[in-house]
Amino acid sequence: MKVLEARDLYKIYGTNIRALDGISLSVEGGTVFGLLGPNGAGKTTFVRIVATQLLPSSGRVSVLGYDVVSQPTLIRRRIAVVPQEGRPLSLQTPYEHIVTYLVVRGIDFSEAKKRAESTLSELNLQAYRNTICANLSGGLRQRVLIAMAMSTDSDLLVLDEPTIGLDPVARVDVWNLIRDYVIDGGKTILLTTHYMEEAESLSDRLAIVNRGRIVAEGTVTEIRSRLGATHVVLVKKSMTTQQDAEVEFARYGRVLRAGAGIRVLTSQSGASEIASLCLKKNVEVSIRQVNLEDVFISEVGEQIDAEQAA
Ligand code: ATP
Repeated sequence: MKVLEARDLYKIYGTNIRALDGISLSVEGGTVFGLLGPNGAGKTTFVRIVATQLLPSSGRVSVLGYDVVSQPTLIRRRIAVVPQEGRPLSLQTPYEHIVTYLVVRGIDFSEAKKRAESTLSELNLQAYRNTICANLSGGLRQRVLIAMAMSTDSDLLVLDEPTIGLDPVARVDVWNLIRDYVIDGGKTILLTTHYMEEAESLSDRLAIVNRGRIVAEGTVTEIRSRLGATHVVLVKKSMTTQQDAEVEFARYGRVLRAGAGIRVLTSQSGASEIASLCLKKNVEVSIRQVNLEDVFISEVGEQIDAEQAA
């Protein structure tokens, strides 16, 4: 079953900021769908339209079979949203947060209390049940927000940059929560991220977005296979000049500029030939398998996360 369908979606802020420039995608139930893109790509705009918090300029979006423009109330009852950089209230405990959230959504008080207990246990948050959120770490506070959303047992969860600012351990904790919700509960998650490993590790399918458009869409394997290469060789310093290096390596595959060096998209044997050539000339080189960042660079000519690359 399709949980989400967007067709020819446009969002224009003011007169000329095209935040969404013709997005079409669909999300199957029981999967994680990732929207990966740099800052300003249009990810938050997309998820806010899905969450019925923002109206599209044109195009259609249906969520769980309902239209976001004409049937927002029916959608809101069946989805839960964790906004980007959401913060739990400092003086409430995780338990109070979940109970309040459920009651506000129209759930009976005694049922809300039961669900709060079971969600805290399932998400391993019982130890922090009565700690005020101000005294929790950033990772735990994020888990409280996700716990609130998950306690609703919604068919679709929308998570906007769920691990932004978290350390690697807290990030993996959040990834596990997301996976379990989908695998154990058969639910659907739409998430945005600008972390490539997050998109790769979590998404059953994903769309790479840039400037309001989809650059590539599919499973991670399908998207990677667009490159027609299995390996990437990063040549850190040009051999003589950058141009010479580009010419020299062109016979092994596609050559892309990457900061001060170049990256060559090639086969495994091409990679080892380039590596031995570079080693002979004392040029620093590294080899890895292709990833989504390579697809993005190849399509857009820049890196998804300039900060991360630096
Ligand atoms: P980020 O991760 O930085 O939030 P994003 O991919 O979520 O990026 P959006 O926040 O959807 O991107 O922004 C898409 C574009 O629309 C950007 O150019 C942004 O500056 C612009 N934009 C977003 N909200 C508004 C608004 N309310 N008014 C005008 N322009 C906006």
